[in-house]
Amino acid sequence: MKVTVINPHGFCAGVQRALDHAYKAKKEHPNQHIYILGNLVHNEKVISDLEKDGFIILDERKKSLSEWIDSLKKGDIIVFSAHGHDPHLDEKAIAKGLIRYDATCPFVRANSTLIKKRIMEGGEVIYIGQAGHAETEGTLKIDESKIFLYEPQKSFDFAQVSVKNPLLVSQTTMGTEEMKESVSLLKDHFPEIDVAARVCDATDKRQSAICTAPSDIDLYIVMGSKTSNNTMKLYDLATAKYPKAVVLRCLDVEDLKKIFLKKSKHAALISGASTGLREFEEVKAYLEKV
Ligand code: SF4
Repeated sequence: MKVTVINPHGFCAGVQRALDHAYKAKKEHPNQHIYILGNLVHNEKVISDLEKDGFIILDERKKSLSEWIDSLKKGDIIVFSAHGHDPHLDEKAIAKGLIRYDATCPFVRANSTLIKKRIMEGGEVIYIGQAGHAETEGTLKIDESKIFLYEPQKSFDFAQVSVKNPLLVSQTTMGTEEMKESVSLLKDHFPEIDVAARVCDATDKRQSAICTAPSDIDLYIVMGSKTSNNTMKLYDLATAKYPKAVVLRCLDVEDLKKIFLKKSKHAALISGASTGLREFEEVKAYLEKV
């Protein structure tokens, strides 16, 4: 099968930075356990590789992140994930005497800084995001009384929300188009709102690239986890834009092998921001032999 690689692919800078932080912690504390608070990045394969390398993942499906911090002792090493986190967890970790490595992506951190500044100035924030996503949940925890969540495609009670000196910010991995539509709608309702909503470069460039793929492509393979928002946005975009093509998502080559590939001639291969190059190249090599 002919395979066209859609660029950029592989880890984004934020994911690579998070992994670098984790391995830096390990290098600097070779004789201690390194605890990772929640999923460092949204990719089960990457998490499993970290576990094989001896990292201990504190799984938030088993206990809340706050409870996990309670269970650690002074001097333990903890790595915060790329998606950002509740700032109160920092206070808790400091109070416990934990050694912290913060892998929060600079794009997420920049949003938090803007939000905190606006709240300190007496303003309030409307945040475009997805409830339950780690980035959104961490952001709302900055100040739940001053940040209002707007979820695209879901109802929002405009009549009940009056925002003072409002700022509009968004989760970094949303769909660019849904973001633009949300901004436009929110500006209609809050004409005085300051807009700082944007998706990160890694998300934006991948979404743009998939929209300009060669026209004869009949199979789109999006690599990444179901838990990765930017991956699922790529999947949704390809599905909506190319209704005649087959669109599949897989984590790695073993995952893809379980899927029956119809008689496609030309595949486009793209990855979300938390899929590594090794897995990407393995899938490419497999497709080229189909
Ligand atoms: S996808 Fe964007 S926000 Fe997430 S880690 Fe990568 S650069 Fe940062």
